[in-house]
Amino acid sequence: MLPVVALVGRPNVGKSTLFNVLTRTRDALVHDQPGLTRDRHYGICHLGKRPFLVVDTGGLSGDGEGIDGLTAKQVQLAVDEAAVVVFVTDARAGLMALDREILAELRKRGKPLIVGVNKTDGLDEMNSLAEFAALGIGTLVPLAAAHGRGVDGLLDEVEPLL
Ligand code: GDP
Ligand code: MG
Repeated sequence: MLPVVALVGRPNVGKSTLFNVLTRTRDALVHDQPGLTRDRHYGICHLGKRPFLVVDTGGLSGDGEGIDGLTAKQVQLAVDEAAVVVFVTDARAGLMALDREILAELRKRGKPLIVGVNKTDGLDEMNSLAEFAALGIGTLVPLAAAHGRGVDGLLDEVEPLL
């Protein structure tokens, strides 16, 4: 069984886009519509030194029900099998209340956490990272998944944890 890396975060932050970059497929539905990718979705990432499974947790968007649909149970399902959780955030939207809520659930699971600060294209990377540093997670990686940027930096952080 390959180690699993779970992509978790609010709807529309770019989880499926990142999944596609990591797995080099278009299987995960990338769409502006939040909550479109409802089920957990797996792919293999071959970009690093050894392969690992990536799970795109689109279902965490709770079928558009927002915070109410975001149950601890759903987070548990996505995360418990993972060796590493990449908590994906949106630098354009900035740090939101739902980010903090999801992170609170993730912290209960006790898995290694990396914050992937996505959509940094056109933004000052350091400013973006600084905003999300307030979450208190030591490892933050700037990403622009739609442009395939930041993946090497992400792999550098993920691989030692697998
Ligand atoms: P998910 O709901 O978290 O899976 O988010 P998606 O991957 O479906 O992406 C939501 C929207 O954000 C889509 O319109 C993507 O094209 C866009 N997006 C994803 N990554 C980036 C990025 O790095 N930069 C910008 N500007 N947009 C992005
Ligand atoms: Mg998605």
